[in-house]
Amino acid sequence: MPELPEVEVSARIAGSALKDSHIQNLLLKDCKLFRPPQQSTLQSQVDTEHSSFNQEVFWQHGDLSSLLSDALPLAPYTFRHGKLMACLFQAQDARVFCLFARLGMTGKFVRRSVDSALHKSTKLSLSLVKHSADPTTDLRLDFLNTRMFGQIWIQCSRYAVSPDQRVEVLRAIFDSEVKRSNMGLDAYELSSQPISWIKYIREQANHRQVKTALLDQSLLAGIGNIYAAECLFTAKAHPLAKFSQLSDEQLILMAQGLYESMTQTLIRSEGQGEVIYGSGLGPKSPFAVYGREGEPCPTCQAPLAFLRIAGRATVFCKNCQISKI
Ligand SMILES: [Zn+2]
Repeated sequence: MPELPEVEVSARIAGSALKDSHIQNLLLKDCKLFRPPQQSTLQSQVDTEHSSFNQEVFWQHGDLSSLLSDALPLAPYTFRHGKLMACLFQAQDARVFCLFARLGMTGKFVRRSVDSALHKSTKLSLSLVKHSADPTTDLRLDFLNTRMFGQIWIQCSRYAVSPDQRVEVLRAIFDSEVKRSNMGLDAYELSSQPISWIKYIREQANHRQVKTALLDQSLLAGIGNIYAAECLFTAKAHPLAKFSQLSDEQLILMAQGLYESMTQTLIRSEGQGEVIYGSGLGPKSPFAVYGREGEPCPTCQAPLAFLRIAGRATVFCKNCQISKI
């Protein structure tokens, strides 16, 4: 299951591929990956700070092909919030649109050389020509999805947008989907600001159980089982404790642990040029406790314990992560 860092890596790869380029060729496999968000909850009217506009949603093969085939990637090229990402484009008629992607279980964007063979699970492939004189910089941006849990669709402004408003309108389209899917604050961004983290947790979740609250996407978008386990270990917090039982110092350690372990995954994956899914790492796992039930605790050497909380496996140290209930 992708967590926030896997999506961030995909967004960075897509962003660097789309930068200063235009689409020369397009391949789009007609499959159920391309489907709309729940339309009954989709707002057609979107507000920016200064005005409002209407958006339309597209997911059918013909619509996506015609929009993308002559589209121009627009800076900043991608947005990400939690596990949601979008690539940003301008259509030929000056409408602007977000190509939204949910990675599902195994989806990812990868950069490939223009002449490399297509992977059999490629569902979308953009051949990109860079705006430089050097033809060796041309490349392909492919979306691979071996299982069909991912989702791709487009939300587009109904009318042309003037150049000075493009980014603002794209941001508003993206934010409308963040809001529609009821996502809380972005976990990576918030964990980089420990004081804001404490304030938010104390105000929004102080009486909630830490493990289930951390996994609640409407509270904190992007945290899954891996980083919840890791940051609870860093904070010496029992997974069944409530936030109100943790000190501010523990909350700071939790934010730092979250930020640090996510950053390390970003660094590892970027070095590989594509997403390395955390759950498939086996004995080489870089994580302190995640997936290490029964192994010695890195701090006290006691065997790590296992608990199932709300159906999710939780590994922790009974010595180091003491509940003060
Ligand atoms: Zn321990």
